[in-house]
Amino acid sequence: MRVQERLDSLIDEVLQRNPGEAEFHQAVREVLGSIAPALDKHPEFADAKIIERLCEPERQIIFRVPWEDDQGEVHINRGFRVEFNSALGPYKGGLRFHRDVGLGTIKFLGFEQVFKNALTGMPIGGGKGGADFDPRGRSDREVMRFCQSFMTELYRHIGEYTDVPAGDVGVGGREIGFLFGQYKRITNRYESGVLTGKSLHHGGAQVRTEATGYGAAFFVEEMLRARGDSFDGKQVVVSGAGNVAIYTIEKVHQLGGRVVACSDSSGFVVDEKGIDVELLRQVKEVDRARISAYVDVRRDADYRAGASVWEVPCDVAMPSATQNEISGAQAATLVRNGCIAVGEGANMPTTPEGVDVFLESGAAYGPGKAANCGGVAASALEMQQNASRDSWSFEQSERRLREIITAVHASCHATAEEYGMGGNYVAGANIAAFTRVAGAVLALGLV
Ligand code: NDP
Repeated sequence: MRVQERLDSLIDEVLQRNPGEAEFHQAVREVLGSIAPALDKHPEFADAKIIERLCEPERQIIFRVPWEDDQGEVHINRGFRVEFNSALGPYKGGLRFHRDVGLGTIKFLGFEQVFKNALTGMPIGGGKGGADFDPRGRSDREVMRFCQSFMTELYRHIGEYTDVPAGDVGVGGREIGFLFGQYKRITNRYESGVLTGKSLHHGGAQVRTEATGYGAAFFVEEMLRARGDSFDGKQVVVSGAGNVAIYTIEKVHQLGGRVVACSDSSGFVVDEKGIDVELLRQVKEVDRARISAYVDVRRDADYRAGASVWEVPCDVAMPSATQNEISGAQAATLVRNGCIAVGEGANMPTTPEGVDVFLESGAAYGPGKAANCGGVAASALEMQQNASRDSWSFEQSERRLREIITAVHASCHATAEEYGMGGNYVAGANIAAFTRVAGAVLALGLV
């Protein structure tokens, strides 16, 4: 059977074995759709059924999370941890608290994470977890009780050599603090390396908070540089207004671009003078308010409820909110309006139709597993500092992050060239990541 036919029948098998998990199917299709050339070159991976092994998580944990709100009402949520692949190191990947979380979402994120982590070149496997808990509108005490209940089960599955969760949507420094506190209490161990994204008061690392957004901006800068261009004077649109979005905006401004719009799930803000990051941070991180509150202070900015931020013309688009937030039609609008580069801060924010539009347009398109790997890379640096009981300065940490992103870009770029698909970062990222992780899986024998 030809390699691509074999991959297609494997995709069918994955779909049948994992019914109803549309996002996981999409992620598997995306990776398996571009690794045929690597299998041609490495038939040993096919013989040892490495792809079949990569598509099946090593372990999937689903658990009940009971907790009480401030009125004494009992709530029952569902918690997940999918430990996808540990060939390169302990499972590593964030926790997402969002009402839409289900097994299919966590599996797509875990699968992506395996390849993303491989791309960083660091010794980390891939996993992901979370719960269908919506922290929005909940008091600090409610969030704490939820986190404590969640960790009361999760603690038995994680550890600095086993599985190291971090934050993701709905899980920031506050939640990681509550989770770490409960882990420490149950285990009676100050095991800093069990969670990353900790605050600087208790074992956190400089630049981890900023790393995903900073890294995405660095990655786009590298893509532009490869085309003899730069951020200088570029108009940029960022979706979302959370951790990734805020630090993407901050770094794009430092690199010479101007971010004129950002969003949340209710609408978007346009500020032609450039989004004021300090104000955005105040609104989102301190007041925990909706993005519409931004225009209460910046009167000359505009808030548009219920509309798509991708209608705002830009040179560079940086989706940093959620999966499948750019449809084929929205990608076409972006290209029509002059967009020449896309850097995905979010995981899988572009639909397959949208990806085709970007690739066909010739835009520099940096897929999430490459463009947003700065977050997990900085998490690996946090683990490194925890293990050596050391802490690095902001400057040293940012320098290291930048080196890692530059190397990831170079690897994606060179791999695409090597396989005759120059400029295609999807192929470059998938093949480079697959080759590294497949080599490790093969070397460890049939386990
Ligand atoms: P946050 O929870 O901090 O922020 C998410 C933001 O996206 C919020 O402003 C949210 O608005 C907004 N949002 C959610 N859904 C939509 C939507 N449909 N349309 C517009 N805006 C929306 O999450 P993060 O910033 O941490 O994560 C964002 C993305 O980046 C996710 O895909 C995540 O997996 C990915 N990522 C995160 C990393 C990290 O280190 N944090 C690392 C790598 C990837 P609202 O409040 O209305 O929901």
